[in-house]
Amino acid sequence: MEYIGRFAPSPTGPLHAGSLVAALASWLDARAHGGRWLVRIEDVDTPRCMPGADVEILRQLTALGLRPDEPPVWQSQRAAGYEAALQRLIARGDAYGCRCTRRQIELALEAAGRPHARHHELVYPGTCRLAPPTAAPRAWRVRCGDEARPVVVDWHDRRLGPQRQDVTHAVGDFVLRRADGLWAYQLAVVVDDAEQGITHIVRGEDLADNTARQIHLQRLLRLALPRYLHTPLVRDARGEKLSKQHGAPALDVARPIEALQAAAEVLGLPPQSAATSADWLASAVPAWRGRWMA
Ligand code: GLU
Repeated sequence: MEYIGRFAPSPTGPLHAGSLVAALASWLDARAHGGRWLVRIEDVDTPRCMPGADVEILRQLTALGLRPDEPPVWQSQRAAGYEAALQRLIARGDAYGCRCTRRQIELALEAAGRPHARHHELVYPGTCRLAPPTAAPRAWRVRCGDEARPVVVDWHDRRLGPQRQDVTHAVGDFVLRRADGLWAYQLAVVVDDAEQGITHIVRGEDLADNTARQIHLQRLLRLALPRYLHTPLVRDARGEKLSKQHGAPALDVARPIEALQAAAEVLGLPPQSAATSADWLASAVPAWRGRWMA
């Protein structure tokens, strides 16, 4: 079986203990399958990126012995691929321009008796799908079914088991290109995973909720569907997910084995005794095989 995996950090800050869990799991899974492992810097959301964080993440990965099999790619260099995918969707009538502001969407939802925000994202009421704007659109959205024919995506997670999301009702027609001109994560990740031939996606469980949207896009763009494994999250003392936004401390790679061991524990792998991070990683591959590949 061909296997190509990837770690796709957003350079919003250096790696922390939580992001290392996803990096290590994707690396181990690639090695355990005899596959290739790539690194992609997801810097499309430029206002959230921190200058120099990409270089620091790559330095941290190298210090841990996690070396990609090809030079890393940066999403900021890949706009032509996103534009081509958007144009394909528009040409098939699967994407449309939208002029609504957030305030207009809130008012439309209130008027329809659905003033409900999910993860601070509003389920788009379909205003510009039903009445296409005559002036230039601000943003571009993908069609996600309707009341008569909702898009319900069933997918399988290797750790979490069978998953289902009614994308029409849970998310609605989501944005592919934002009003500020930036490409949305959902489109960029799907285009790049296909372009790089990614067969297996291993990433943090906080991203599991995006998977149905991404599968919907993969189907519309006639792309191959990768397999998915979402890894456990690291929580702080208050039970909150460790994240850069909430000030998770940068990973200390001066002690690589300690950092790897802590990430392995989250993944339920037994401790490995090793003198170097290369030895530690080599001995963790068979342990991973026994844990997740059965
Ligand atoms: N760039 C995303 C993040 O750092 C991960 C995307 C993915 O693995 O699909 O949260």
